[in-house]
Amino acid sequence: MQKLVLASNNAGKVKEIQALLAPLNFEVIPQGTLGIPVAEEPHHTFVENALAKARHASSASGLPALADDSGICAHALDNRPGVYSARYAGEHANDAANNQKLIFELSNQSDRSAHYVCALALVNSADDPKPLIVETSWYGVVINEARGSNGFGYDPHFFLPELNQTAAELDPSQKNLISHRGQALCELISQLKIRNSLPC
Ligand code: IMP
Repeated sequence: MQKLVLASNNAGKVKEIQALLAPLNFEVIPQGTLGIPVAEEPHHTFVENALAKARHASSASGLPALADDSGICAHALDNRPGVYSARYAGEHANDAANNQKLIFELSNQSDRSAHYVCALALVNSADDPKPLIVETSWYGVVINEARGSNGFGYDPHFFLPELNQTAAELDPSQKNLISHRGQALCELISQLKIRNSLPC
C-alpha cells in the first residue's frame, strides 16, 4: 500500500476520496490524524489553493500528498461562492448557514444553474516540480427545499434534472461515479498511469 496524506479534514471529502482510492492500493491518511494543521487558502482559484494545501501537507508529513479544493459556483451570482464555499456565511459557518445564504442570494434570480468544481493536486514531495493537477465540474441547479440526507455541504440543494434527484439523494457510490470529485480522481488516476508508464 502506498501512503498518501490527504490535505483535508472535511469528513465528507475524506470519506469520498478514501472510497474512490481504496481499490488502487493507496492508504489515504487524513492530515488531521498526523496532527497537521489546516493550511491557509489565500488564493482566488481552486487550482492554486489545492496546490498550496498539497505542498503544506507534504512538507509537514514528508509523504506524498493529495489535496482537493472544491466549491459551488452559482451562475447568476458570477460564480459565487466559488473558492469561498466553505466560509460563504462566515469564517466558521456550517453547512446549514452556507446553504441558507446561497438560497437567500438566489431568491430573486430566475437562473438557478450552478456547477461544482473540484481541483486536485498531487505532489510527491513539498517542492515537487511536476505536480499532477486536474480540475473538473459537475452541473446542476440550486433548489430552495433541501432534499436527501447523503453527501455533505450544498448537496441537499444541488438538483440534477436528468436524475430527478439532488446530490444528497444519490447513493454515495453513485455520487462518487459522477460527481466533480469522482471525475477529477478518475482523471488524476489516468494521468498517474500515463506518467508511470513513461520513461523519464
Ligand atoms: P474547501 O475545503 O475550501 O475545498 O471547501 C469546499 C466546500 O465546498 C465544502 O465545505 C462544501 O461547502 C463545498 N463542497 C465541495 N464539494 C462538495 C460536494 O461534493 N458536495 C457539497 N458541497 C461541496
